Amino acid sequence: MRSLLAILSFLTLALGLSNAGCTVADEHVRDVAPFASAVDERTVHGDTQFTEVERLAAERALTAWSVFTRGRVRLSMRWDMDSTNYMDLPPPILYRVTPSAETGTMGGHTLGSTIWWVPDTCRDLQACMMHEVGHMLGLEHFEGVSGQVMSARNPSHVFGVLDYRECARVGVCREIRPDVTTVTVTVDPAIPRIDPKPPGW
Ligand SMILES: [Zn+2]
Repeated sequence: MRSLLAILSFLTLALGLSNAGCTVADEHVRDVAPFASAVDERTVHGDTQFTEVERLAAERALTAWSVFTRGRVRLSMRWDMDSTNYMDLPPPILYRVTPSAETGTMGGHTLGSTIWWVPDTCRDLQACMMHEVGHMLGLEHFEGVSGQVMSARNPSHVFGVLDYRECARVGVCREIRPDVTTVTVTVDPAIPRIDPKPPGW
C-alpha cells in the first residue's frame, strides 16, 4: 500500500512537472499567436471566364489587402469555378459578369461572400476588385470622397487614411504600434565644452 502511494505521489509530481513545462510553452505561444493569426483566411473561388489580365488584377488586389492589413487578411484565389461545378464550391465566390441595364455603370457588386465583378466597366481593374473585397470584409463606402479604395465612385488602388479607419472599425486592421523608441538625452551644463577645432586651426 505504501509503495502504491509512493508511486501515485511520484506520478502526481511527474504530471505536475510536465504541466509546468507545458504552461511555460503555452504562455509563449499565446504571446505570439495574436500577431501570427489571421483574422480572415479564405480561398476565393473564381470564375474561369476571366481573362489573364483580369486574373492578375484580382490576385494583386488580394495581395494588396494582405499587405494593408499586415497579414490579418489572407485570401487566396483559385480559378476553378465553371458551369459544371458552380453549385459545389463554397463561398467566397467571384463571378465575371458583362455590363447590362442591371449593372449600369457599376464596376462590381458584393453581397455577403459573393462578388459580381464587371471588368468591362472598370477603369482600374485592381481598384474595382480591391473595392469589392473591401465590401466582402465588411467595409462601407465613402460618399463624396475620392482617392480611397472604398470611395463610392472611381475607387483608387492605393489605400488611404479613411480606408484605414474603416478597416479598423470593422476589426480587420489593428492600430499600428510605434516601432521606434524615443530616447531623450539630457546634457549636463557643468560638463566643459570641447572646442571642435583641433589646435593649430
Ligand atoms: Zn461599393
